[in-house]
Amino acid sequence: MSTTDWFSPDYATARRRFLEGAERRGFTLSAEPVRARGPNDGELAVDVAYLGPESPRRVVALSSGVHGVEGFAGSAVQLRLLGEQLDGLSVPADTGLLLVHAINPFGFAWQRRVNEHNVDLNRNFVTHPEGHVANPDYDALFDAINPERLDPESDDAARARLLGFASEHGMPRLQSVLTSGQYVHPQGVQFGGQAAEDSNRALRAVAARETRGAVELAWLDVHTGLGPYGVAELITECPPDHPAYARGRDWYGESVQSTADGGSVSAALNGVMEIGLEESLPAGTELTAFAAEFGTFDPVRVFWAMRADNWLWSRGDADSDQGRSIRAELLEVFRPDDPAWQRDVLDRAATLVEQTLRGGRG
Ligand SMILES: [Zn+2]
Repeated sequence: MSTTDWFSPDYATARRRFLEGAERRGFTLSAEPVRARGPNDGELAVDVAYLGPESPRRVVALSSGVHGVEGFAGSAVQLRLLGEQLDGLSVPADTGLLLVHAINPFGFAWQRRVNEHNVDLNRNFVTHPEGHVANPDYDALFDAINPERLDPESDDAARARLLGFASEHGMPRLQSVLTSGQYVHPQGVQFGGQAAEDSNRALRAVAARETRGAVELAWLDVHTGLGPYGVAELITECPPDHPAYARGRDWYGESVQSTADGGSVSAALNGVMEIGLEESLPAGTELTAFAAEFGTFDPVRVFWAMRADNWLWSRGDADSDQGRSIRAELLEVFRPDDPAWQRDVLDRAATLVEQTLRGGRG
């Protein structure tokens, strides 16, 4: 089997392979339903698999697809773990392995980053509405970010406005405006939602139940689309003086970066999944959670693909030629159709799993 065969062509195939693979390895399966449906009215679920003792001291978790379309890579990592990596993997007797296949199954199935309510789930883990952080620069740039028409003329005008903002205030500030999240424009890019989404509740339920009272929880959440091509960065919102950051550096080395000190390829984000995990665990659980972010193309190309995708589903025709080309570009920027990139991601992710397992032995 070639490495890239772990990448599935669609959500339904990936899901079937995940359930079969987990069952073959003796994992205990469970699922959190979500109300949304996939193409052809297909069923969607947050599928969960656990292997290990009933009362583990430590749980190592691997999750993916919080940004739906990024689930192609995350699923492939899990399928390879189930299909071959487990054969040579040394899992301590007191440690449980937890796999969460698709946190945003709608986005995975429809090949979008957002969920059924146009919500970026990795901005949804705030208290609603008290935690809705204002993003006034986003409001001011709204029309450039979320155009009414998508054509070369309005694209050029929008690009000029956004680059004008960047030359006045700096690229990091533009990145923050565009990616940190916003809570007032339900049809806009990077909408964090106005209530806890189904997948948010599902993730909290999984974290509370499936970690089985472990005192240590290590969680890797696989993402794609940000950073140098094929390179992994382990991102945390915790500042460098936080013990979780120090543990990460110890386990993974210099790939660990914090958004809090500007070291990361990511801007500081609001409402990330880490918060939901922390809030769902028993007090005193030692949580070490990182987004394992695999880079693809330059951020302007990736953002432009997200902007077009948002326009398409709010104003365009997904079945037109233009719609098909926008959808193909969105898939490409989050799951490059390139065997070398796919191999790099899988090999690096396999190493991260080993490093996480080793990291708990003190
Ligand atoms: Zn992501």
